[in-house]
Amino acid sequence: MKFIMSIDCGTTSERCMIFDHQLNIKAVSQREFRQIYPKAGWVEQDPGDIWETLLFVCRDAMAKAGIGAEAIAAVGIANQRETTIVWNRYTGEPVMNAIVWQCRRTASEAEKLKSGGYSEKIKLKTGLVPDAYFSSTKLKWILESDEIIRKSAENGELLFGTVDSWVIWKLTGGKIHATDYTNASRTMLFNIQDFNWDDDLLRTFAIPKSMMPSVHSSSGYFGETEDVVFGKPIPIMGAAGDQQAALFGQCCFEPGQVKNTYGTGGFLLMNTGKRPVFSSGGLLTTISCGNGGEPGYALEGSVFIAGAAIQWLRDELGIIENAAQSEELAMSVEDTSGCYFVPAFTGLGAPYWDQSARGAILGLTRGVGRSHIVRAALEAIAFQTEDILEVMRKDSGINISRLAIDGGAAQNNFLASFQSDISDVEIIRPSCVETTALGAAFLAGIGCGFWKDLDEVMGYCKADRTFTPSMSISKRSRFLSGWHDAVKRVLCN
Ligand code: ADP
Repeated sequence: MKFIMSIDCGTTSERCMIFDHQLNIKAVSQREFRQIYPKAGWVEQDPGDIWETLLFVCRDAMAKAGIGAEAIAAVGIANQRETTIVWNRYTGEPVMNAIVWQCRRTASEAEKLKSGGYSEKIKLKTGLVPDAYFSSTKLKWILESDEIIRKSAENGELLFGTVDSWVIWKLTGGKIHATDYTNASRTMLFNIQDFNWDDDLLRTFAIPKSMMPSVHSSSGYFGETEDVVFGKPIPIMGAAGDQQAALFGQCCFEPGQVKNTYGTGGFLLMNTGKRPVFSSGGLLTTISCGNGGEPGYALEGSVFIAGAAIQWLRDELGIIENAAQSEELAMSVEDTSGCYFVPAFTGLGAPYWDQSARGAILGLTRGVGRSHIVRAALEAIAFQTEDILEVMRKDSGINISRLAIDGGAAQNNFLASFQSDISDVEIIRPSCVETTALGAAFLAGIGCGFWKDLDEVMGYCKADRTFTPSMSISKRSRFLSGWHDAVKRVLCN
């Protein structure tokens, strides 16, 4: 068996990649599926669409690769996290659409948790902050939406799952109801210190324990695909939430290693090893994929506006034609000429936590032109990332040894190089930027012995480019204090 099948169940599309032993991509298939917006702020998906799209891309990738199930050693799954699905264990029918992580319908429920004094308890048990993102309030909402649903749940007829559980259940023909530690840690129902569903939290949200999936290590045997799915059974040997899969796919196997995905927003995860670190700066504590398949821990933080600032320059200001052009413009000037851009379009997250802050471009003089502003926007992505890295350093007491980068804006060499300088870290940009899919493949491939160990896997991972810091300490601190002064000007707190 020569291949690993990696499935990435994303928020807007399903993707299947088939990797060979040396991590060459043998085939890829991707397809978007329907997003449903029933009301302002509500986001749903049809679990049937998720499953059918997944089946299509997997079969399509196999056809493109010209291989059958007998050539595939194992399947690994990475998925959009927190999205909540409830279905009937006998008929397999979902009771309603999936409530997607972005959906804000339970925001007031999350607020009630905060005002009711639950924040500290939730933080210690789950590593999370009360927010509508996580599954618990969504699941409670589903159970409360209809008396019949509540009764069937209490009678043990209904199952809960995040997207990984749903697709594992479908792939195995309804035999296996399981999730992995990383996905469980995003439900706000799982105790990340004793690795069990938390009875106290289940009671708080009035959720019958019989609905909950069994929780497995991210790497190891989940079950086998049913014959009719791919012609022959294939073992499912890996599953993880997308961000944790990306951390693993970026080979951040050691404590202190961090990955940042520069997409629309920025998603940072730091491996903190066997130790849960509870943040004083508002970061989340979450379960990561440990080196030997066992659960480990990570700190997670996000930058609300990263690549979106570049989109704004393109679409609203119209001063660049495309995102890639930002690199050449930024490099065409020596500096920003004292200009700072604080892209607080939707408020500021860690470490400022100011929802009311709004964006600003500061330090304008007659000599500031579009290249300076474009450069300031790219620098702002790096400054915001550094702000989170600094919280991670303080919270964990771990020195950050390297930053592995991916996502659309990671292609920008100016940004990567400036990030390296401003954070004083080595930056590694891998040649295969499909890190989420890679992570799922590693988990499955190591789980089934396709690869001997992580050292072997690392041997196949090539860096596209590394960036080493060369900025003097005095220059770095001048830049950072300029940035912090600019941020102070937009804060409303
Ligand atoms: P997402 O998955 O969040 O949709 P992607 O990883 O596809 O995001 O990245 C898209 C984002 O990256 C966009 O916001 C875009 O402006 C930005 N981007 C893409 N290429 C570049 C580039 N060369 N320089 C700077 N930003 C870029």
